[in-house]
Order: sequence, then C-alpha cells, then structure tokens
Amino acid sequence: MKAHDGMYIDGAWRDADGRDAIDVVNPADGQVIGQVPAGTALDVDTAVRAARAALPGWSATPPAERAARLSALRDVLVARKDEIAETITAELGSPLKFSQAVHAAAPIAVASSYAELAATYAFEEKVGNSVVHHEPIGVVGAITPWNYPLHQIVAKVAPALAAGCTIVLKPAEDTPLTAQLFAEAVHEAGVPAGVFNLVTGLGPVAGQALAEHPGVDLVSFTGSTAVGRRIGAAAGAAVKRVALELGGKSANVILPSADLAKAVNVGVANVMSNSGQTCSAWTRMLVHRDQYDEAVALAAEAAAKYGDRIGPLVNAKQQERVRGYIEKGVAEGARLVAGGPEAPREEGCYVSPTVFADVTEDMTIAQEEIFGPVLSILRYDDEEEALRIANGTVYGLAGAVWAGDEAEAVAFARRMDTGQVDINGGRFNPLAPFGGYKQSGVGRELGLHGLTEYLQTKSLQF
Ligand code: NAD
Repeated sequence: MKAHDGMYIDGAWRDADGRDAIDVVNPADGQVIGQVPAGTALDVDTAVRAARAALPGWSATPPAERAARLSALRDVLVARKDEIAETITAELGSPLKFSQAVHAAAPIAVASSYAELAATYAFEEKVGNSVVHHEPIGVVGAITPWNYPLHQIVAKVAPALAAGCTIVLKPAEDTPLTAQLFAEAVHEAGVPAGVFNLVTGLGPVAGQALAEHPGVDLVSFTGSTAVGRRIGAAAGAAVKRVALELGGKSANVILPSADLAKAVNVGVANVMSNSGQTCSAWTRMLVHRDQYDEAVALAAEAAAKYGDRIGPLVNAKQQERVRGYIEKGVAEGARLVAGGPEAPREEGCYVSPTVFADVTEDMTIAQEEIFGPVLSILRYDDEEEALRIANGTVYGLAGAVWAGDEAEAVAFARRMDTGQVDINGGRFNPLAPFGGYKQSGVGRELGLHGLTEYLQTKSLQF
C-alpha cells in the first residue's frame, strides 16, 4: 500500500509539523501495512488557513463548474475503484467482494448524485418580495470514522463541494490510507488548491483541534455518541453549526403477517454485513411470541452460514469490546444460539457471528451499540409492545418493518422514532436523507437534504 508521509494541504503533499506517525494495521493478520503522520494543532491550523484562503474563489465558482469538478472526481473514483477496494480491505479487513460492491461503489453513487445536484439545485429562489440566496456556510471541518471509510468521507466532502464550501478532513486513524487515496483523487479531478485539505492524526489531538478551530464554520462529525456529544458542546459554545451522525441500535420489527423466513434471513444478513460495524444495522430483531421459536431457529441457522464469510473487526480493541458485550449478554441471562465470545481464529481480530435469544429490553445488549456481528432477538406480545420496545432506546437512526401488507408496515413505521425505515426489505437509497432521531444525531446526510446542511440563506427584499 502506498502511504504519503505528509499532509495534503493547499493542493500539495506537505511535510507534517511533528515526527509522530500512526501505524496502519491489517486486522486480518496484524501486519503493519503503512504509516501516516500524526497531525498536530499546527497542521490543522495550516489546513484551515488554506481552506479559508480558498473560500472566496470556490464559493464564487459557478455551480456548473463545481458540478464539473464533482463529475471529474466521480470519474477518478470509478477509474481507481479496484485500488480503493483493495486499500479498504487491507486497512479495514472487509472481504474484497464487499469492498468492491459497497465500500467502493457507494461513494461513486454519492459523488455522482452531487455532481447532478450541484448542476440542478436552485441556489436562488423568489419568495414574495424577496430573493433568497442559498450560500455556502464556509469552511467545513469533517471528522470521519473507519467503518465505511470512503463513503463517510464522500458523504461530507461531495455536498460541501457542491455547496461551494471548502474543507479540512480528519479521517479515522484506522483507515487513513483510503483518505489519502481520496485526496489524490480530488487532486486528479482538478479541484483547486486549498478547497480540500487532509490532516491525518489522532482524534483527541488533530480531531479536537479541528472541531475547536475558530476558523471552521461547520463541524460535520460521524462517529461515537460520546465524542459527538463533546463536539456538539464545543460547537454550541462557539455558536457554530454542527452536524452529528452518531450511533444506533435499530429495530427490525417482524409483524405476524410477514414472510418470517425472508424477514429473518435478510435481518441476519443486515447485522453480519461489514462484520456488524454499521451504525444503521438492525441489531434488535423483534418477533411475535407465537413465531419466536421458529425465528430463533432460522436466525441461528442463518448466522452459522456466515462463519467464514465475514471479515475481522477493525482492530484488537474493537474485538475485545465486542467479546466483552457477548460475555455480558451471557451474564445477564440471554441465551446464546449461535457464536459466542471465543475468538474463532488465532490470528486476526475475528468475532464469531453471534445470535442471542431470550433478550429482554433492560439487558445491556438490547440497549447499547455493540458494533460487531451480534444480533439480539426480543419477544413481543402485541403491536403496542413491539412499538414500545422498538422506540425504547436512546437511539433512532434506522430500522425495518416486515408485514404481509405494505400499508400495515408503513403504518407501523410512521410510529417509529427513527430517521430511516426499510419496508419489507427496501433497498438502501443514496439520495434519501440519512440521519438520526434522538441521540443518533443532528442533521441529515445524502441527497438534497445533505446538500442543504452546507448552505445558509440570505434574503434580499425588493
Ligand atoms: P470515534 O467517535 O472514536 O471516532 C470517530 C472519529 O472521531 C475519528 O476520526 C476519531 O479520530 C475522531 N475523534 C475521536 N476523539 C475525538 C475528539 N475528542 N475530538 C475530535 N475528534 C475525535 O468512533 P469510533 O469508535 O472510531 O467509531 C465507531 C462509532 O462510530 C460507533 O459508535 C458508530 O455507531 C459510530 N458511527 C456512526 C455512524 C453514523 O452515520 N451515524 C457511522 C459510522 C460510525
């Protein structure tokens, strides 16, 4: 893997301020595959200054030209998609096929959607005797996690570029090579110097410096609720805009009229995908008591098939954390029907696909985000109880409802406190707003709603 030993600032790779470096480790075998510089507050400051200096030019660039740069960026991502997939497999551990089909393909779709939105969005509208201009918010500080390393970068950078904002990105320390590859793509796409800048580094150092920098107008953060809360507090104190995409504990509600086998199988696949490291994963399956035993048997059988198909977790710390949750589930009285806390292999950060039955609402594994391949199956007596359980966590990011009749599923979905619901296995839509109710976050990403996060309005009266 190619690694740059500098920061991409003001259109070029520049020496980092300090000498500290971060090892990039392949979680499938523990091998160090590269090193990137650990940025300091000075690196962040240099990058923010470059972004600020580039802002007047980029914000005044006609939307059609910004759209052309985004199309060029999409084309570079397409041309380099194999390299992207291989890089993500090497630093995240996801199986290559999944990296190709999801990690490389989704950002291409998102970049494409913003190329189109930049070209077609009405940045000016007439409201009575006013003309309302939708202007870029300014300099964006983007902080991203490792679980969908490129998707989460593109979900922030593409709308910010479309809006006319300039950006400083601080990617996750586990997946910085993907971020460096993205910086190369931005450069190749002809985005002017200073419009996009990359500072690699540790969260509490470079991330915090970026979140607190007075030259940043909007902080867009994706990651844990704990860090998001701190970033939100700092942004509030500075009266600056903030967008937070945080954790989830989404419910997969299987109503009695549903096709049970399909709902269970798709539900298990959803949780195991990306080794369970998906913020929107349906980690709680809710089944009517009359169908409960059948659903548990189906889920255990489905999970067993994933044994060799999922990759490791991202690092040893996450592996330990997830195994700790599995032990806690057992200790609190849940019944293991697949997997368990033992590591399935000696090498690599693997966790067995795990399914718990007899999970009750008050258990830790029913409330906290595990971020691993662990499914909890809960029992409900009637629809009202199902709704209460579904809405009974601090989170509200995603969810699913299955029913024989689509209208029945929709009626239930409308009562769920959550930002997205897939009806009878509805597919991921890269244009639909993505984001959380309650403690899953503030703001929305993707599509038109994702674009408006990066805009502010100015009304001129005539
Ligand atoms: P994390 O919050 O520790 O890290 C996310 C990013 O924040 C990284 O770039 C990290 O370096 C940075 N960071 C860490 N401490 C910081 C600080 N004090 N100031 C500024 N930046 C800081 O999260 P993680 O453990 O790496 O990722 C997993 C978590 O992210 C899970 O809880 C998951 O639910 C959440 N997540 C949510 C979404 C979503 O879209 N809602 C997507 C992916 C991950």
